[in-house]
Amino acid sequence: MREGPRQGKPVYCGARGRRPTSLFMRPMLNDAHCHFFSAQFFTTLGKQTTPPPGNPAVAIPEQLGWDPPGTPAALADRWIQELDTHRVQRAALMASLPSDEESVSIAIRRHPDRLVGLSMVDPTQPDTPARLTRLFGELNFRCACLFPAMHGFRLDSEVVERLFAEAAAANAAVFIHCGVLSVGVRRRLGLQTPVDIRLGDPLAIVPVASRYPTVPVIIPHFGAGFLRETLMAADLCASIHLDTSSSNRWLEYLPDTTLRTVFSQTLHTLGPDRLLFGTDSSFFPRGWQQGIYETQLAILDDLAVGEDARQQILGGNFDRVFRTGC
Ligand SMILES: [Zn+2]
Repeated sequence: MREGPRQGKPVYCGARGRRPTSLFMRPMLNDAHCHFFSAQFFTTLGKQTTPPPGNPAVAIPEQLGWDPPGTPAALADRWIQELDTHRVQRAALMASLPSDEESVSIAIRRHPDRLVGLSMVDPTQPDTPARLTRLFGELNFRCACLFPAMHGFRLDSEVVERLFAEAAAANAAVFIHCGVLSVGVRRRLGLQTPVDIRLGDPLAIVPVASRYPTVPVIIPHFGAGFLRETLMAADLCASIHLDTSSSNRWLEYLPDTTLRTVFSQTLHTLGPDRLLFGTDSSFFPRGWQQGIYETQLAILDDLAVGEDARQQILGGNFDRVFRTGC
């Protein structure tokens, strides 16, 4: 059943755009989109560029003005401290290169109630079946992340079909980056990231998502420019979810569209069940991006989204997609 934006006053009353500050009044908050920029992540990037002298896991982040991550355990603990500071209950942490699942696995083993593991996967690589078996089994990851524009494969190809079959067997989700793709850390290091963004068309997900209706699909950033196609695909496939993460800079291509109208249209088309709040937080000392949360919360206030729908978007849908104890 479709549900439009709730009418009437928001449950949390008070000055427009103001939120209650009491810990006990705030709805549960989970973040569906964060990156775990580990030492291994920077070491691998260092092999793709001419790194500054010294250990790339220290020198590259310092070059960017970021804190070196330290060990995966130390970085995991820093994430938990950061989530505690912002009263975020659970967060999805992505291994942001296909070779970095070991680092995230240490983090999620250390904090299984707070952290959910996602990993970038290049399904064109011959070791993908074995990698997925280990990822979803021994390492307890809950989601494989696909970047078709970066890794050069079609979403209606055999390799994606096989990946969905593995995800279905493991009760795991599939994250698919569609639309425009710009990897900030690579850009800042002057690394080329060849992409074919024609391969990130959300409409191409429909056939495989239809064949595996139990596999939750997450399209980040509202489709990163393909909002209409993302909504069409999600309207056809109840398994398709959208994450709200990042500054959604793709809005620059649509001068008459604002993040408010994006939320409004998505809620009108899909209701609140398929939106996952996310920030796209990644490095320290910036840490968890409170500003993105406040911007999106103000939009929910402005749209008078009711408490139930708000809780689904900010936390409930996350808990449904990434059930604990799986
Ligand atoms: Zn991201």
